[in-house]
Amino acid sequence: MSASSVTPTGPRRRVIIVGAGLGGLACAMAMHYQGFEVLIFEKIKQFLRLGDSLGLGDNALKLLRRWGLYDQLVAIGNKSPNMNIRRWNDGKILAVQPLMDMAGFIGHRGDYHTAFIERVEELGIKINMGHEVESFDEEAPSITLTDGRTFFGDIIIGADGIKSKTRELVLGFSDAPRSSGYACYRAYFKGDCLANVPECQPILNHDCLNIWIGPDMHLVQNTLRDGEEFNWILTHRDTEDITESWFQPGDMSDVRNLVKDWDPMIVSAVSATSSCLDWKICYRAPIPTWVSKSGKIALLGDSCHPHLPTSAQGASQATEDAAVLALCLTLAGPGNVPLATHVYEKLRFDRVRQSQLSGEDVRNRWHNSLKSLTDGMEIDPDELKIKNRWLYSFDAEEDTRRRWDEISARVKEELASGNLTPLFGDEGPSRELLARDAYGKIKDTQSNKVPLPTLTV
Ligand SMILES: Cc1cc2nc3c(=O)[nH]c(=O)nc-3n(C[C@H](O)[C@H](O)[C@H](O)COP(=O)(O)OP(=O)(O)OC[C@H]3O[C@@H](n4cnc5c(N)ncnc54)[C@H](O)[C@@H]3O)c2cc1C
Repeated sequence: MSASSVTPTGPRRRVIIVGAGLGGLACAMAMHYQGFEVLIFEKIKQFLRLGDSLGLGDNALKLLRRWGLYDQLVAIGNKSPNMNIRRWNDGKILAVQPLMDMAGFIGHRGDYHTAFIERVEELGIKINMGHEVESFDEEAPSITLTDGRTFFGDIIIGADGIKSKTRELVLGFSDAPRSSGYACYRAYFKGDCLANVPECQPILNHDCLNIWIGPDMHLVQNTLRDGEEFNWILTHRDTEDITESWFQPGDMSDVRNLVKDWDPMIVSAVSATSSCLDWKICYRAPIPTWVSKSGKIALLGDSCHPHLPTSAQGASQATEDAAVLALCLTLAGPGNVPLATHVYEKLRFDRVRQSQLSGEDVRNRWHNSLKSLTDGMEIDPDELKIKNRWLYSFDAEEDTRRRWDEISARVKEELASGNLTPLFGDEGPSRELLARDAYGKIKDTQSNKVPLPTLTV
């Protein structure tokens, strides 16, 4: 793109997407398939193969398949039919669950990201790498890059992740993350590093997934690509004062100490691991709207609803957002972007919130269910299973078509009266809570109470 200032020229409506993570790329595909022109800006100059295991559920895969991306994703995912939930100290299998019920296809985030990029490029959409969005004009609407160039569109979509600048614009303040009280040590390496470790042999050379659960900790282990790659993620209590980062190196001696009394099969894998990352899991409270005051800027993916790793739904929910927002823009018709964005957030919020809460529910059950057992008592396997099946059968596009008339009629009335209802009502987290930083310090004290839906799985 060479022009210093670009305005819409043709009749096609133009969508500007900030961020080319999995959410922004899914959005580019969905918008393309609804016939919109897509401009996508990414601040990173070149992507690396970052992260490790990420789940893509059937709820996302059925949408991605409509956008021409399926076989490539299935090829990346873990092929194990089942996962085993094991007792922390002796590895006894307490429950077995089909992997598709648990997390869908688990694969390397970087590989999924590459597959998404390739599909977007195949569709003729250029990803403008090294283009950082610095500011927004929400009435125009337009974005301005750090190099001073301004681009106009019909709608701006903030798919700019957990540290989103677009969210700041939508909220009117910066809502800092809060500590969840947990952190993950994460390692991903070549499977042959463990080839000479006798205790690990049962979990090498074939795709498998095992989860060891114990008091206040769990460890997820993945063997992928017929044993070519090996990954473990240890979730443990942590209130240490560091900021959320995907790059913070972990201390392997701390990890070895945490699992020293665990099942020798996994202890020996951890002992043979040379390095890991230390990722603090931070919460962001739900926010009362995903849409700017003008209705022309909307949030999508982690920028408005980050998930815990135990939900295995971060990328999948971002993909659903993309499908719903694109269809809402089509159903609302030209010149009706605020109607589309406000219907989108109302269609999405309750489902996304329940998906977020399901991650907390799983973690709490894994960390607590063995605590109350006395000697000789057996645990009910169902108490340990991930209850995500209801998430996977959902078709986000079908749901949007089914509920459009009802929700859009309500939103039209609200837009006419200028009285837009927040995503949740009077009793939930306040602006004060939203503005607390990771360690509880209040940065903003305006009160705006709002209740949350409860978890019903
Ligand atoms: C480095 C990294 C590693 C991850 N690893 C895992 C993992 O191992 N397992 C897992 O389950 N989840 C992981 N995640 C999270 C997971 O990818 C997301 O939950 C999910 O894909 C939805 O992401 P998103 O597209 O909404 O946000 P993100 O994936 O965070 O993408 C946001 C994008 O926006 C770009 N951006 C931000 N600000 C600007 C700006 N001002 N201008 C232009 N571009 C901007 C960022 O560079 C980034 O590429 C990781 C995320 C990241 C960023």
